[in-house]
Amino acid sequence: MRSPILDYLDTLIAETQHVVEGQPADYIPELAAADPEKVAVALCTVNGTVYASGDTDHHFSIQSMSKPFAYALAIEDHGLAGIRDLIGVEPSGEAFNELSLDPETGRPRNPMINAGAIATHALISSEETSGLDRILEFFSRLTGRDVGLDDAVAASELATADRNLGLAYLLHASGQLDGDPQVSVEGYVQQCAASVTVADLALMASTLANGGVQPHSGERLLCRESTRHLLSVMATCGMYDAAGDWLTTVGIPAKSGVAGGIIGVLPGQIGVAVFSPRLDRHGNSVRGVAMMERLSEDLGLHLMEASRPARSALRETLRVTVEDQPATVYVLQGDLVLSSIEALVHELIESPPSTDLVVFDMARVDEVLPVARRTSSEMAAKLLDEGHRIIIVDPESTVADFTDSRGRGIERWSPERLESALG
Ligand code: GLN
Repeated sequence: MRSPILDYLDTLIAETQHVVEGQPADYIPELAAADPEKVAVALCTVNGTVYASGDTDHHFSIQSMSKPFAYALAIEDHGLAGIRDLIGVEPSGEAFNELSLDPETGRPRNPMINAGAIATHALISSEETSGLDRILEFFSRLTGRDVGLDDAVAASELATADRNLGLAYLLHASGQLDGDPQVSVEGYVQQCAASVTVADLALMASTLANGGVQPHSGERLLCRESTRHLLSVMATCGMYDAAGDWLTTVGIPAKSGVAGGIIGVLPGQIGVAVFSPRLDRHGNSVRGVAMMERLSEDLGLHLMEASRPARSALRETLRVTVEDQPATVYVLQGDLVLSSIEALVHELIESPPSTDLVVFDMARVDEVLPVARRTSSEMAAKLLDEGHRIIIVDPESTVADFTDSRGRGIERWSPERLESALG
């Protein structure tokens, strides 16, 4: 059975099809030649379940979405206090590739703009291991597979890297970059050319959502404190000079890349990734931003929204007899948001009810977000299609009436009726 969460992602892609403004990055020739119609979206829960839709096999370069992860390694090497002395944490309000440093401190303003990212790359490089090898090995741990480089993108960017070279020389001149500026830019550009899919990125983002523990391997890749620090910097600086707009509309820590990807992190709940190559003037994917805005609205991701407990919607599953028939009763609870309903849907798909009669007891449910309403209705329709009889105990009428493809509907019972039927 196809998960209704995947159906939702398909709809998201279909409903943003009209967003065709912007152009692929043109200052890197290989990116200018990208197919602008490619589009993909993926979610990964903190339990490691990945949902991906669209061009899910399409590989593209990670670009600036590599910056937070390189910064994580630099924090590991230098400690939080140490790194703060080297790279600032203030939004610059300038373009990502602006040729400027903080006039007071002479340091890069933050690690998400190129000045800070080139300095970061140099900080994670040593005589023994190149920064590039370290970051690729980190990406491999984060994604659970061997991440390689898109050599064509790296070569193309290196051939046109005057601006980044300018930045590296500026850093070197002000004492903020040890070593050869050219070598640092080469390493940084290759770091940006790591080749990934949206599912890889969603998994990487979910590690940040999960406090630094990779959900599949269970390996702690970042400590809690660094994760919190990193997410704070992503929230304020991740979308460059569009950061304020982003935080007010989408409202989650995020990072974009000029190949067209954007990752977002909802702490404690999910990692998200979208891809579409056409960019706005800030260098952020136009359709990607549109998809993220929809996701945030539909899934209730905005951080400043009154917080909802991230517990599972499924309180318990009972196998009982209802009116002399064996039945499975799913007792739901709390607010139904995407991450809580996902656990229920996952359970229903992985171990479908073994009885014909299925009861959803929603008497303990508080608020239901539109996406959860839609997902639970679609799930019920799928169960009806498979031949189940469905009873819903829904005193607040949170689930809409509907019928399946053969015209059969759900039955509505009051809590009292269920109680007396259970005996
Ligand atoms: N490699 C790109 C650059 O340095 C990354 C920029 C980005 O993704 N915003 O220009």
